[in-house]
Amino acid sequence: MAATPPPTPRAVPCPPAPGGCDAPAGQPCTSHSGTRERHTFHRARTASWETARLEAVPAAKLVADAAKLRRGMHGAHAAELLDAHGHTTEAERIRLAVSDRNGLLSAKQAAELLVDDAERGESR
Ligand SMILES: [Zn+2]
Repeated sequence: MAATPPPTPRAVPCPPAPGGCDAPAGQPCTSHSGTRERHTFHRARTASWETARLEAVPAAKLVADAAKLRRGMHGAHAAELLDAHGHTTEAERIRLAVSDRNGLLSAKQAAELLVDDAERGESR
């Protein structure tokens, strides 16, 4: 059985210049007009990958979008929002995480947690 590689920005294409190098999904980023392989990813590619990860997890997207509008939104509010939209399992998950961290969980971190959970579930 093949091991699932860890998710990286390589999964999405790199945006074209000036932000990125236009590398197709699955290919490494390049520099110097494509002649040299980069060991890191262009920031624009990482950003588009983060967006794609959120899009794949509706509950996380919901929380991330709300957190963008409400600065300093707390994990507890994220849980309420999830409940209100019928994501009860995810809401419970976030409430547990908030209590595990003694209340120190932001909505942004809550969204990241949900993405991590979903990706771990896929690779099982
Ligand atoms: Zn690139």
